[in-house]
Amino acid sequence: MSGSNGYSNGSNGSHGSNGFAMELRSVTKRYGSVTAVNAVDLQIRDGEFLTLLGPSGCGKTTILRLLSGFEVPDEGQVVLAGGDVSHVPPHKRDVNQVFQSYALFPHLTVEGNVAFGLRMRGVDSSEIKTRVKDALDLVALDGLGSRRTSELSGGQRQRVALARALVCRPKVLLLDEPLSALDAKLREMMQIELKRIQQRLGITFVFVTHDQEEALTMSDRIAVVNKGRIEQIDAADEIYEHPATAFAADFVGAANLVRGEVLAVRNNGQCEARIGEGAVVLFRGEGIAADCADVLLSIRPEKIHLSDSSEGLMGAFPGAIEDVIFRGAFAELRILLEGGSALRASVANASAHKRSWRKGDRVWCSVHHDDIVVVDRH
Ligand code: ADP
Ligand code: MG
Repeated sequence: MSGSNGYSNGSNGSHGSNGFAMELRSVTKRYGSVTAVNAVDLQIRDGEFLTLLGPSGCGKTTILRLLSGFEVPDEGQVVLAGGDVSHVPPHKRDVNQVFQSYALFPHLTVEGNVAFGLRMRGVDSSEIKTRVKDALDLVALDGLGSRRTSELSGGQRQRVALARALVCRPKVLLLDEPLSALDAKLREMMQIELKRIQQRLGITFVFVTHDQEEALTMSDRIAVVNKGRIEQIDAADEIYEHPATAFAADFVGAANLVRGEVLAVRNNGQCEARIGEGAVVLFRGEGIAADCADVLLSIRPEKIHLSDSSEGLMGAFPGAIEDVIFRGAFAELRILLEGGSALRASVANASAHKRSWRKGDRVWCSVHHDDIVVVDRH
């Protein structure tokens, strides 16, 4: 075991695996006529915090079960530290899972729950004692070892489940929506704490959630999952600034997805497209053919700049404010463009002297060409 605390340290734990803790290679999993996971390629880096983010039913749990060994792929391979483990049962993989329901043993104490896996493996009792104590310290449950789990709060049970998974020192820890049963405050606290534990131990975490804010808060990288496929995998800010698909744009943050009729493709890679009557925008259109008829564009609400006049603005287009929703730190506006299409914009409530917009105001909109992104229409 590497690492001074006795837990495996992912950053120096690769065994001829090209720096990947685990991989899925063209993995497909079907349940009858449902393809839960569809030809997925996934490379999980040693020591990273990777989040699988997607709506209910998109295949997140199935991907975790393929990684843990509770499911066997119909096609493709599951690779752990460079070796094919597709048919290796869960208890023989250096992988542990924390379940959504915690799955604690109610008749055992906290210590008994955490020690269980080590007892099954025949670890000797003095080592069990030390390791259980270390694990309980790590999740801030020191002193509660002799409690029954039925006497614990939801948050404390969550910590026991985590300690029980960590005490076996897995290379990879899989967490399936582990915070979904906690109330908002506790959940935020646990997000920060989980991230801290992961960084301290250097264990590879694969974390599942349907909550985009949770994914943005915790992850080194996010894999956006939709209908059994991974649509995009990248750092949170990369996905936010450069969504690859309409689904990714809409699921990670808010997005205006607008059809653009291509008017011109310039030599410098810039494109010109009409997004409504009287609204022509410029954007980087690398890879767009000159005869391309139309494109789908993603524009984040906060990237739309609003002004009283078009003076000095390149490519500004007019609209009318149809609705204003006050949200405290910012306001959400709905802007009607000529010809009937609409955009959502958000304006920070930064200063008392700032112009505030009202329903019915005429407005000029402009968007920097880097803030308009061409997306695939998934
Ligand atoms: P998620 O965790 O993202 O909500 P799942 O991986 O649980 O999604 O499910 C993906 C798809 O596979 C869903 O359509 C679900 O109904 C189906 N599915 C999952 N497990 C089973 C199963 N054991 N038997 C039949 N269908 C299943
Ligand atoms: Mg699930």
